[in-house]
This record gives sequence, C-alpha cells and structure tokens, in this order.
Amino acid sequence: MKNRSLLMIPGPIEFESAVLAAMGAPTTGHLAPNFVEAFGQALERTRTLFQCKEGQPFVLAGSGTLGMDTACANLVEHGDTALVINTGYFGDRIGAILERYGATVTHIRPAAGHHPALSEVEQVLKSGHFKVMTITHVDTSTGVLADVKGLSALGQKYGALVIVDGVCSVAGEELNMDAWGVDVAFTASQKAVGVPPGLALAVASPKALAAFKNRKTPVGSYYADWTNWLPVMQAYEARKAAYFGTPAVNLVFALNVSLGQILQEGLEVRFARHTRISKAVKAGITALGLGQVPQNDSIAAHTMTAPRFPAGINGADLVPAVSRVGVTLAGGLHPEIKNEYFRIGHMGAVNQNDVLATIGAIESGLSACGYKFETGAGLAAAQRVFSGS
Ligand SMILES: *Cc1c(COP(=O)(O)O)cnc(C)c1O
Repeated sequence: MKNRSLLMIPGPIEFESAVLAAMGAPTTGHLAPNFVEAFGQALERTRTLFQCKEGQPFVLAGSGTLGMDTACANLVEHGDTALVINTGYFGDRIGAILERYGATVTHIRPAAGHHPALSEVEQVLKSGHFKVMTITHVDTSTGVLADVKGLSALGQKYGALVIVDGVCSVAGEELNMDAWGVDVAFTASQKAVGVPPGLALAVASPKALAAFKNRKTPVGSYYADWTNWLPVMQAYEARKAAYFGTPAVNLVFALNVSLGQILQEGLEVRFARHTRISKAVKAGITALGLGQVPQNDSIAAHTMTAPRFPAGINGADLVPAVSRVGVTLAGGLHPEIKNEYFRIGHMGAVNQNDVLATIGAIESGLSACGYKFETGAGLAAAQRVFSGS
C-alpha cells in the first residue's frame, strides 16, 4: 500500500516537484551569479504577480506573520490611527501588531462568517481619520473572502493607506494592486505561491514607500525595517549582490521556479482554475448536507472551504477519520466557533483528482463517524461541476 497522504490544509500545501528539486539543489553562496540572477528574476516576478507596475517587491526570510509585521512596522508610528476590517483570527492578529507599533486601532468586526457592508465601512471611515486600513483578503479562520476592490476604493477615498493581508489569497484569488488602489500587500511562500514555508513576499506601492520615507521616527523593528532591505532588493533586481541578512538561498531558488510556473499558467487562467476547484469542493460539501462558515457563496474564498460539522456527529472525530484514509485536513481556528467546523485548503498546484480524493475521503470519514447520507452524493456533485453538467 502506498504510504502517502494528500495535504489539503490552508498551507502548507502540496508542492510541485520542480520546486522541491530546487529546494534540494546544492546551496550556493548568496553572492553567486546564478543566485543573483534567480533572486533578481524572483523579485520581478513578484511585482508581476501582485500587479503593481511601479511597486517595490520585498522577499524576506520569515513566515506570513513577518509580512504582517513588516507592513505595520514600516507604515505606522506611535499615535497613528488604524482601521482593521476584521473577518477573523488574522484580523485580530494584525490589530495586535498595529497596537504593538503604537497605533490606536478600530476594528470593524462582523460575526464569524460575515463581511461588513461597504456602507458601514464608509460610515466609520467618514467619522475619523485613519492613516491605514487593513483588509484580510481571505481570512483563513473563516474562509471569508473580502471585497478588496470595494474596500480599497473606500480606503483611498478617505485617505487611508490600504494594507492587504493576501497570505491565503495571492496567486489563488484575483488581486490587482494598481487597479484596486492597494498600497501594501503581502503573502507567504507556503500558501498559493506554492513554495515550502519560510519566505514572506510583499509589494509596496510608490505611495506606501513615500509614506515610509516621510516617517518622523525610526521603524520599531530592526529586522523588518525597509531601510535595511530596500537597498538589498534594489541591488538584486539590478543583478548585483548586496547584503543585510543572509537570504534563504534555496527557498529563493524554489520561489523563482514556482513564480515562473504561475506566470506561465497565466494569472487569469490560474484564478479561473481556483474558482472551478472551489465550486466543485463546495458543491460536494453541500450535497453531503454540510453548511459552511461564510454566510453565502459571494463572500466565500476560492482557495479554501470551511464546512460546518453536520448535526449528530462528534466533530472532533472527523478530521482524524479523514486522515486515516489518507487526506489531511485542518480543524477550526476562529476562537468563537473553533469546534463547529473544519477547513479544506485547495490552492496552488491542486487539481481535479485532488478534489475527488478529498471529497471521497470526507465521505469515508463522515461514514466512520456514523453520519447518514447517500454514499457518493458529494463525489457526484463535484464531478458535475467538473463536467459542466
Ligand atoms: C497563514 C496566514 C497568515 C500567517 O502566516 P504564517 O506563515 O503562519 O505566519 C496570515 N494571514 C493569513 C490570512 C493567513 O492565511
């Protein structure tokens, strides 16, 4: 029997073999000409991925939380005000980071699974001046997809710098920094970007860089300070080596391979693939009689699904039961509803067969937990999405 498990959590995900091969290649020095070329190209490709023509890309060793930390550290000074569009756990986290750097933070925090009305956000923006506004594009704790386009337009209208946590969205959900007026967006390598954990990717718009340059006080974090990293990123992009902190050499090589694959697939095609995969997963889940945390499909992510446990089973038993038949899923994360739902990641290299294996394994798990349903109903619904019937 094959001893393997399919990893279907919201990061890390399953990686392409060419990406893993780059991870396993002999490590070069960070000044080696082939590394300088790969890093330079990875930076250019990062800018293309985020759709920010004049933006400044940063690729740093660290997790997605470093992306959050860096955006806040560089744009916020003591006494600044921030508005957090809080659709879950990662909204709480960015709020805590903003406070750590001295901001006074206002949260718009709808119930778990909801998205605030734009009119409500506009009321709050109107009532005070906010230096920054943050949006979690996909909050991985709820599977809620934020209306980044609509929210950013409001942020711009009221003079806030718009920061987007794209850790569970970039390279899976459409994000167009230029067209939508996003000032800083960031992600992490292990999610839809398709590279093992360890890199934080960010792009800052010219407006964000100008705000950073106009700071009155030094950045409160030494490692995250763009003052240190800007010359390094600019040097590598000009195909020159530079040093501040040793880059994660193998991860950067792997990133360049994955970004090459992503741009080769094409962003539009890639987003459409994520949408189709997501529809199939959600159709399967619905056909099995399970609800979802997001209140409706228009605010549900395409990179993940957050199904609710059906009545009559012990939810804590389901994820282990699915794991026993070879598919790894994630439990709940949002503190208020943690024990009511589970999470399926479907981003990056994910394909139709992965979806069918996952829905099949969920059916097996539900059955093992004593849930009554028509065997194969989830699979049939997913198949119908793929066959377009
Ligand atoms: C995963 C995630 C993070 C945190 O990333 P780490 O790599 O775990 O630090 C932040 N925001 C969102 C939306 C995420 O999905």
